[in-house]
Amino acid sequence: IVDISGVQKWFGTFQVLKDIALTVARGERIVICGPSGSGKSTLIRCINSLERYQEGRLVVDGYDLGAGQKNIDAVRAEVGMVFQQFNLFPHLTVKENCMLAPMKVRGTSKRDAQELAMRFLTRVRIGDQAEKYPAQLSGGQQQRVAIARALCMTPKLMLFDEPTSALDPEMVKEVLDTMVSLADEGMTMLCVTHEMGFARKVADRVIFMDRGEIIEIGKPEPFFANPQNPRTQAFLGQLL
Ligand code: ATP
Ligand code: MG
Repeated sequence: IVDISGVQKWFGTFQVLKDIALTVARGERIVICGPSGSGKSTLIRCINSLERYQEGRLVVDGYDLGAGQKNIDAVRAEVGMVFQQFNLFPHLTVKENCMLAPMKVRGTSKRDAQELAMRFLTRVRIGDQAEKYPAQLSGGQQQRVAIARALCMTPKLMLFDEPTSALDPEMVKEVLDTMVSLADEGMTMLCVTHEMGFARKVADRVIFMDRGEIIEIGKPEPFFANPQNPRTQAFLGQLL
């Protein structure tokens, strides 16, 4: 569902992505880790066209992102994104947050959007908070709303960028549990996270990025037990 080859990106003279190649199959779960500033967010944001790249090819769900705005809009409708900061609309209720995109982008009727919203809010075990405003919820609850909001677009692919790193420790688990259950249902997922327990449990492959490059990529068991690259070893050593 994702096919990336030879992608290069610069911010001014600084090269943030170097010759990135990656294919993600439908149903695959991929975890991306790496030091701060290594380009993880930038890569994820390119896949959702929140950032442009200068060279290479990036195809998502058959749409070449280098081929114009039409493809970009099409891809954005099929790709869900969850950020570190929840990015909920503060002036809308939880339910309205979830209804907005289906109504605006898909032209879903208000009643159907409401039904969708309640289905997915219940799915992330937060249906009883539907009429509240984001500020009235805990961080973990807000992040689950953000996940429900993305699911309301019935995405083919979910991108997560450090979804638990802004949360208090006691709220990390409820968000990870939600992500695990999504994975169990077969959702295709690309997750930037340093939650290595999550990576071991659900990842089909783990990617290590450093200084704009994919340095190492492998199945979780060998990746953690026996990382090949010294930089991966150093990074994993730090995490423990
Ligand atoms: P972190 O773990 O801290 O989130 P990251 O791996 O997600 O890091 P990116 O956010 O992708 O890293 O940033 C990669 C590099 O690109 C960093 O050096 C950052 O300073 C730089 N960068 C990111 N966004 C911009 C921008 N809009 N303009 C210029 N430089 C940027
Ligand atoms: Mg980042």
